[in-house]
Amino acid sequence: MERISVSGPWITQKEIDYVTDAVTNAWYGNANMYHAKFETAFAEYVGRRYAMALPSCTSALHLALLSLGVKAGDEVIVPEITWIASSAPISYVGAQPVFADVDKDSWCLDANSFLENITPRTKAVIVVNLYGNMPDMDAILEIAQSHGIQVIEDAAESIGSEYQGKKAGSFGSLSTFSFHGSKTLTTGEGGMLLTDDEELYQRCRFLQDHGRKPGDKLFWNTEVAHKYKMSSMQAALGLAQLERVEELVERKREIFHWYQQGLMDVEGITLNREALGVKNTYWMVSVLFDKRWQLAKEEAMNRLSEKGIDCRPLFYPLSSIPAYAEMPQAALARARNCNAYEIAPSGLNLPSGLNLSREKVEYVCESLQEILGS
Ligand SMILES: *Cc1c(COP(=O)(O)O)cnc(C)c1O
Repeated sequence: MERISVSGPWITQKEIDYVTDAVTNAWYGNANMYHAKFETAFAEYVGRRYAMALPSCTSALHLALLSLGVKAGDEVIVPEITWIASSAPISYVGAQPVFADVDKDSWCLDANSFLENITPRTKAVIVVNLYGNMPDMDAILEIAQSHGIQVIEDAAESIGSEYQGKKAGSFGSLSTFSFHGSKTLTTGEGGMLLTDDEELYQRCRFLQDHGRKPGDKLFWNTEVAHKYKMSSMQAALGLAQLERVEELVERKREIFHWYQQGLMDVEGITLNREALGVKNTYWMVSVLFDKRWQLAKEEAMNRLSEKGIDCRPLFYPLSSIPAYAEMPQAALARARNCNAYEIAPSGLNLPSGLNLSREKVEYVCESLQEILGS
């Protein structure tokens, strides 16, 4: 049997047709035809006024922070458990990342920890919808508003998720998505920045294009800025995927339910949660092992790998990774963020690619049971 990958896309003839059309026709006067279609359709899907296609979610977060004027001397709160792309852009603008704890059940930013980490320097919070789940948005938005803190929603992992009927990506001043090859909707590499605020949108457009004012004379840059563009082939791929988004999201939920059924009788493990009022789209089906198994994620990963199954560790707490080792803020976070340090060592992402069959999921479940049984 071939190895079971941890993630991967679902590509059909539609995607191949759109990309073929883009590479054939999206040049000269038509160079931006797929960008315009992809951005308009994406904004409509999420329920935002403006969407901007970008080369990555990382660049989207960078522009979001720049457009809000976050700079050296400011602090930005970000949850401990997330991919470093959520926090790295805070350093790009010279600000200080502050790692807050996650909630035990949602694994997303804990509202109390957010509140406790606010200082007079806190300028923004980056809320992350981890593995497709969503945090207690009402509480977080209320705290942010009462303290004058800007909210950026990192919705990279959560296309199609909902909080009380509102789509992921519709919260905060700006929100971001990733279309990396591992994500539910992919363009290979790519991202999207969304906002309802015309001024922020115009500022991001300007910063995205080497500091050129739209309509100004050619090559007349008024600031040194950035070059963050998506190619038309990627935009075409994104548009095709977006036209199939319901199917992609439903398959993710189906894969989760296959796992849920396959692991129903296994005690001492916890799968992703879905709180009342939340629609979780399970970007990565993940399992936490109870302490009694004394099973570190690395060991579980190695044992599954021997059976031809590729997994990933749950993200390490950001304050624990070498990149932040010397940062005084990280030492404080290590001492304070108990939930993150409790969850992370025993958490594993199981294969969640869109090409999974029920048989493969059952094989993963049986293999997991074997490991726990021995
Ligand atoms: C994937 C991911 C990103 C980064 O996306 P890129 O498109 O690779 O820059 C950011 N945040 C989270 C939570 C992610 O999972």
